[in-house]
Amino acid sequence: MLNCDCLFCKIIEGKIPSAKVYEDDDMLVFKDIAPKAKVHLLAVPKTHFALLSEADEEGYAMLSHILKKIPGIARANGCGNGFRLVINQGEAAGQTVPHLHVHILGGETLGW
Ligand code: AMP
Ligand code: ZN
Repeated sequence: MLNCDCLFCKIIEGKIPSAKVYEDDDMLVFKDIAPKAKVHLLAVPKTHFALLSEADEEGYAMLSHILKKIPGIARANGCGNGFRLVINQGEAAGQTVPHLHVHILGGETLGW
């Protein structure tokens, strides 16, 4: 279910533009607007939930699907030499958008 106040739900619905690189029935991948690496993509489930700790069985199934798809998407977008995945959960981790998303970072040698 989509959440009308959520930025990433609005991107999923096409109400806010994004630079999409992959989409299927369950997930969307688009370029981060403020990239922190040469390649910085965000993979989001189309069902709204804010936190990893809030995922239900459907959420875990979507996350599994997202993780399965990411290596191919990363390779197709210039991360053939490797990539880093980040999920920020909550304020202390710096989560700013309360719709679960996986950061895909790469396209260069990453420092820690
Ligand atoms: P987080 O801090 O983990 O919640 O990550 C949210 C990410 O969303 C940040 O890296 C932002 O740069 C990114 N972001 C915010 N607004 C947009 C947007 N309209 N399109 C693409 N990425 C966005
Ligand atoms: Zn949302």
